[in-house]
Amino acid sequence: MFENKFVSLPSHLKTIEPMEVHRGARTMCNTETSKMIRRTDPVILYTAKPNISCTWGEKPAGLTSIQILQADSTDYLLGGSLTLRNGRIDKYLFEGGYAQASAAGATTDDFTFYYYNQDHLGNNREVVDASGTVQQVMNYYPFGMPYSDQAGTLNSDFQPYQYNGKELDKMHGLYTYDYGARQYDPVLVCWDRIDPLAEEYKGISPYVYCANNPVRFIDPDGKKIYIPKKSQSEVLHMINTYSKTQYKLDKNGFLCIDKEAELNEKGSAHYSERLDATILAKGKLTIEVGDKYTAKGIKNTKIYDVNNMGGGLTDKTDKKNVKTIVSANGHIAHDTMGNEVKKSAAEVLIHEIVGHAAPVLVGTETGNAVRNENIVRNELGLQEREDEKNHNE
Ligand SMILES: [Zn+2]
Repeated sequence: MFENKFVSLPSHLKTIEPMEVHRGARTMCNTETSKMIRRTDPVILYTAKPNISCTWGEKPAGLTSIQILQADSTDYLLGGSLTLRNGRIDKYLFEGGYAQASAAGATTDDFTFYYYNQDHLGNNREVVDASGTVQQVMNYYPFGMPYSDQAGTLNSDFQPYQYNGKELDKMHGLYTYDYGARQYDPVLVCWDRIDPLAEEYKGISPYVYCANNPVRFIDPDGKKIYIPKKSQSEVLHMINTYSKTQYKLDKNGFLCIDKEAELNEKGSAHYSERLDATILAKGKLTIEVGDKYTAKGIKNTKIYDVNNMGGGLTDKTDKKNVKTIVSANGHIAHDTMGNEVKKSAAEVLIHEIVGHAAPVLVGTETGNAVRNENIVRNELGLQEREDEKNHNE
């Protein structure tokens, strides 16, 4: 039998300093653009006045208007590209930078343009203004914690899009990066909740960031290279034959890095980099195996024979929705001496991805599709292809 003694509990809780007490409806992140999208209302952060007390054991009903010191709201519109603070336009985000609004008058805004300098992992390392003056400098430890020393930083609060280009959320002093599906804590180096694809990586803890290897991997939240069911095993085999990083498909047919596989040491690192960047890019790439490609124009439908088009074809008509089709037969090309070279379907796919699809979705490389392909062929020790001057990306 237990007999309870009287336990001494405090009777009141009283705040001394102003404190952040409530955050409004959580906005959701758009996984396509990894920016916030509006779900219901703007996010409102209330700061309570000091010296509010409440009785222990009683659940406070919420702040009354006289207890609120200030309310700050943030709203994300246009798929997250337009942010509003306290009801006024704050920033318009675009690829590679943003326009910052400054209040010019009651009904007008002035805009100043800023651009990011990023590293190979997509981390924003510098923000420069239109005249090239550096406004912000950020450096990070491998797992994303920003440097705090004076020499490695400049204006760390200038704008919040930082490691991997993600928004640093300082709410409640937590300092986590917003990756959309979950928040990442660069001090604890783990996620605040489990990987939605946890079942795909059984050997790795679902809280681990980038398989504990953030220098080699990025954690792209994008699902950007899609392979329809009937082409999955062939296309995956083609890619992994020549890529240094090995990939696999998630259950929905999206290409993702196989973090448990050994690197293919004979493979091309450049090919992997372009594939990784395509996975991170905003648009989508669909890769299929087939001999015919049907292009649906506004007026008419055209059917192309892929075997007569060099064994592969990339449709760039819709720059956000690029389609690549490769024939399983490969192709005959010419080397720099003019000799015939039999190219496998996997080699044709390198040309389509590095030569055409990646430049559209990620950004231009050399300007010439064959030259792009030759960078990879060089790394693989394959005979270089004959230069074709007019073969544009
Ligand atoms: Zn081509």
